[in-house]
Amino acid sequence: MDFTQLRAQFPTLEQTLEGYPLCYLDTAATSQKPKRVLDAMVQYYEKDNANVHRAAHQLSSRATSQYEAVRDTLRRFINAERREEVIFTHGTTEAINMVAYGLTTQIKKGDLILIDTAAHHANIVPWQQLAQRTGAIVKPIPLTEDCRLDETAYDTLLRDKPAIVALSHVSNALGTLNPVSSLIARAKQAGALTLVDGAQAIAHLAVDVRSIDCDFYVFSAHKMYGPTGLGVLYGRYEILDTLAPLISGGEMIKSVSFEATEFNILPNRLEAGTPPIAEVIGLGEAIAFIDELPSVETARQESELICYLQSQLEQLGDITLYGAHKDNIGAVAFNLAGEHHQDVGILLDQQGIAVRCGHHCAMPLMQSLQIKGCCRASVGVYTSKDDIDNFITALTSVKELLL
Ligand code: PMP
Repeated sequence: MDFTQLRAQFPTLEQTLEGYPLCYLDTAATSQKPKRVLDAMVQYYEKDNANVHRAAHQLSSRATSQYEAVRDTLRRFINAERREEVIFTHGTTEAINMVAYGLTTQIKKGDLILIDTAAHHANIVPWQQLAQRTGAIVKPIPLTEDCRLDETAYDTLLRDKPAIVALSHVSNALGTLNPVSSLIARAKQAGALTLVDGAQAIAHLAVDVRSIDCDFYVFSAHKMYGPTGLGVLYGRYEILDTLAPLISGGEMIKSVSFEATEFNILPNRLEAGTPPIAEVIGLGEAIAFIDELPSVETARQESELICYLQSQLEQLGDITLYGAHKDNIGAVAFNLAGEHHQDVGILLDQQGIAVRCGHHCAMPLMQSLQIKGCCRASVGVYTSKDDIDNFITALTSVKELLL
């Protein structure tokens, strides 16, 4: 499949805005979806629409087998040991909440929870809530000057034997990559339970949860060319099985009486209610799409685009880059000298350029950078060098207008 064929699979990209071709550089917020993902979901609604797990009839068994097949696909995709370790959630946010809530009785007053300074709010707030319920203490792991996780400070914090270490695999605001395998190994040595937020990694890196060796790994379907409203919680079976369910009701039970309820076994125990069936089927198709990409080439092309983007921004001048490194994954964060990020974003939008501007759900990171916000340009498999050139041309005219 050549690049033109690949890009043609994304209907959203074939439009113009204000007479300009759409230049979508906001994949880190959500990726565009290939037509085959949309078709798979429509096909389910048109032909197989029925609830899963419940009925004896054929539509239900077709829906159930498609739904459960995606669990097997995911097990393989992230190299989990067992299919029961893959739990469908409504997103990364819900998945982290499920872990933080589910561990409540295992955490006690004074326990330490280490989190990433560059973390998305979804990997901060649930831990703060857990700390409020239990009396645990949440501490951020500092960043170095160049916005990497400060590994020396991390090792010092690990001496205090944290109960939980929750890291991002890739920062959504900056695109910086954490060396998670090594960080997790050290956390485990210190006796911590470990969670990796893979929302920004899953579409760009081959993720192997057994090689990372974390207890939990979470991500969202919509950032990997799949639909919104769906996420995945991977958990090591023995630990996943100890989580108290955040949501209870139908499907997650073995038996219910007015006196007592016996919970189901995994994975059902953590999947209460009717799941997002069409979305799961859509995610299965998104993974089939990713599987067909020449992975090494795709990764190289994405990393070349990121380096090109960084160098073009540097050449433009009057630009501050944040956490820009050669190994950034998918995103570059910047500000135009003295200008408000929102103004820059709006002026870019008028030229068909979609970038994200704001605090990127990472307010503590913005505070540590001593800024209110920034612009972020992010790429996916459909991003071309022309997109980057169009973006730089548009930003040049924004610069001329504002400075
Ligand atoms: N973590 C990271 C690193 C993210 O980028 C995002 C989405 N911006 C989330 C968590 C939350 O994902 P969702 O909104 O899909 O639950």
